Amino acid sequence: MKSKAIKLISAGILLIIAAGTLIYRLSVREEVPGTESFFGMDTIMTVSAYGEGAEEAILRAKDRIGELEKKLSVTIADSEVSKINGAGGSRVKVSEDMVYITKAALEFSKETDGAFDITLYPVSRLWGFTGGEYRVPGEREIEEALALTGYSVISLDTDRGEIGVPAGTMLDYGAIAKGFAGDETVRILREAGMGSAIINLGGSISLIGSKPGDKPWKIAVRASEGNESAGTLSLRNCSVVTSGRHERFFKGEDGTEYCHIIDPATGRPVVSDLDSITVITDSAMKGDALSTAFFVMGKEKAAEYWRLTDDVEFVAVSGKLVYVTEGIRDLFSASEGYKTVVIDR
Ligand code: AMP
Ligand code: MG
Repeated sequence: MKSKAIKLISAGILLIIAAGTLIYRLSVREEVPGTESFFGMDTIMTVSAYGEGAEEAILRAKDRIGELEKKLSVTIADSEVSKINGAGGSRVKVSEDMVYITKAALEFSKETDGAFDITLYPVSRLWGFTGGEYRVPGEREIEEALALTGYSVISLDTDRGEIGVPAGTMLDYGAIAKGFAGDETVRILREAGMGSAIINLGGSISLIGSKPGDKPWKIAVRASEGNESAGTLSLRNCSVVTSGRHERFFKGEDGTEYCHIIDPATGRPVVSDLDSITVITDSAMKGDALSTAFFVMGKEKAAEYWRLTDDVEFVAVSGKLVYVTEGIRDLFSASEGYKTVVIDR
């Protein structure tokens, strides 16, 4: 009798251990991590996802990013953008991706009073940005190049899937392409069942869910120079996109710094008291376009824009000051030596 009871108890214990192991295995399986770093769109990209099939899903996203780059890159000779730019004023048949991103870009231009403008390539090329030799162009050159710009000259026929620009005008999707690629990566990872992921496409970050263990993702906001952090954002399920003057810049002979973001009103690199501006919103494409536009507009105008919306927040770094919109004040924590200034409604 006694030995039978012991056997039953032992069997019970074994069952509990087995069940425990199974539950443990299942929960670990749910958090199988996958990570890939690769070069794309002229920057280092890192995608990490947690879930079964993470590696395969990330590779699918990587292929999609490569496909988008081939369409959207201004430096790839046979990209769709290059075809539009080289068409001598005729309209060109383009893919659905091109129609979608161009339509969105035009809307952001209107919303930001032209601070965001994908027709600035003739100007940024003069300054040597995008592959050229950096230099400070003359007044006349800038005026001539500027005369070819202005988003209203883009002709987009969504029904026919055609885009055209006047001869000499050239499009550049550099301020929005990574964001679009981020949104596409989110879509692909979600469709593959990933409930947790962090996607960093060279400063355009997208977050799916929370970190494993249900903790928010911690995103460092870079300080003005070097790799120091001005503070940390604790976020879930959103995009975080930064534009700043130290991402790409050169120094003139007199020591002046010229950054890669052009003010469409002057044809010159933006002169700003801000070092960077980080936009937090639901779509990385929107965050990408707005962070570039906000950098052109400056903190005050960006705050005016923010007051009219309820789905966009931002953090702007200016030296040791960090301006944070009210909606995310509790999600931001400044690093030692940095002071937070809240922007109110
Ligand atoms: P981002 O790093 O997203 O702010 O984008 C900057 C890139 O977008 C530059 O390297 C240019 O290719 C392009 N660009 C520069 N100025 C503007 C602007 N005002 N609007 C849209 N694109 C711009
Ligand atoms: Mg941008």
